[in-house]
Amino acid sequence: MRTLVMKFGGSTLARAEGLTQLVGIVLYERERWDRLMLVVSALEGVTDQLIDAAHLAQFGQQRGYRRIVSNLRQRHLSLAESLPLDQTERSILQTNIDTLLSDLLAMCESLSNAAQKQAATDLFDAIIGVGERLTARIVAALLRHSDLRSVALDTTDLIITDNVRANARPDMEATRERMENQLLPMLERGILPVLTGFIGGTTTGKPTTLGRGGSDYTAAILGVCANATEIWIWTHVNGVMSADPHEVKDARVIHQLSIIEATEMAFFGTRVLHPRMLLLMRGQNISLRVRNLFAPQQPGTLVHNSTPELKDGLQAVTSIGAIALKTNSGGSLANITTLVDSVFFDTIGTQVEVTITTQSPSHTLVCFVVPIAAGHEAIHTLNSALEDHLQGLSEWQVEPVTIVTVIGAQDAISLAGCVQIMDALANIPILAIDYSPARCGISMVINVRDTELALKRLHKHISK
Ligand code: ASP
Ligand code: MG
Repeated sequence: MRTLVMKFGGSTLARAEGLTQLVGIVLYERERWDRLMLVVSALEGVTDQLIDAAHLAQFGQQRGYRRIVSNLRQRHLSLAESLPLDQTERSILQTNIDTLLSDLLAMCESLSNAAQKQAATDLFDAIIGVGERLTARIVAALLRHSDLRSVALDTTDLIITDNVRANARPDMEATRERMENQLLPMLERGILPVLTGFIGGTTTGKPTTLGRGGSDYTAAILGVCANATEIWIWTHVNGVMSADPHEVKDARVIHQLSIIEATEMAFFGTRVLHPRMLLLMRGQNISLRVRNLFAPQQPGTLVHNSTPELKDGLQAVTSIGAIALKTNSGGSLANITTLVDSVFFDTIGTQVEVTITTQSPSHTLVCFVVPIAAGHEAIHTLNSALEDHLQGLSEWQVEPVTIVTVIGAQDAISLAGCVQIMDALANIPILAIDYSPARCGISMVINVRDTELALKRLHKHISK
């Protein structure tokens, strides 16, 4: 049984043109697979607006959240208006959009009146997941118009998670069971489901969400539970690049990448790959492709499950923002790590996932990766939050830094030589070096001001 899960990102669906491409691709692929499932994100920017609305509601700022809800209504209705739908389908879709937005407004009103913290937490996730529910209905209506038996499905009852606010983790066993009972029978009947990305629910039906960028994670959860053959992530770029093209002009698309390398890249700054999605797919026999919805003739990137190959050489160089804590003394790291972990959780809603540590009897440096999904401002917010917390512990200094990482097969790294890498960084102060235990990456912690230069110089050593 060949099963394909295709996920469409918010940047691809925001314009009618992207939706037209989606229909063409679904009509084509439907003939080639036994089972097809679609996962959709919210339209670009919508989740940010919903998060703003939820925050405004928490502060009782009625005018603010009402304005956001009315903008969202306008935006989705005018997208629906621009689509080629027959009259009945169009008015059903308009009613669906209206109902979801009335519910959204009602949830914001209750949140602004919620006296109890627990009620507020429950409403928060329900509010920020509305974007995906809107897109799923729009896409399903459009597919029905092309004579496909498509339905929009909210995944609150399907993807079972824990109860962590805005950052829930799936219970794979419970999810698999729900899928077998609810989703697979639909697929057998030839129905094409358009599933909401990002959204889950607890066993008792309370809505949860999977963290920013979580629609890719949804695609992986569904793919793993349905024993999918492939998962395709449709985006607006040609694939995974050898460096960020904004920083390095001659960055190129990587056509093949092992999942181990892809996971390193995702944790160390590559935008189109979702770290948790890749962790979940490791050891599964599922291929992942990243493809451009606006240039489907391009091969994109294939992420495979074999070990990285020496012949592929050094694949990529990435950079990511991090927070470094330094002290001129050695000693235990346990307290400082616990403190940073809780500041991360309070400030950006996720726990510390990756750290780089170097220690000597007289100096210690610990560097905490700030996940891309936390947004641009996160690093500064975290820096000041940590400065406040560290006032009593004056031996620790905190500052934003960059981690640059060169990724490639283990032998490629040792053959191309750490010497070559170090040579490329001549005159750039290196604060710490870390050879990944996954044996396919070497990371250097550097000052933020040296980022661009380091990336340009390192990229010269990436294989063509
Ligand atoms: N809409 C959610 C977000 O913006 C999930 C996603 O786009 O993957 O984070
Ligand atoms: Mg995304």
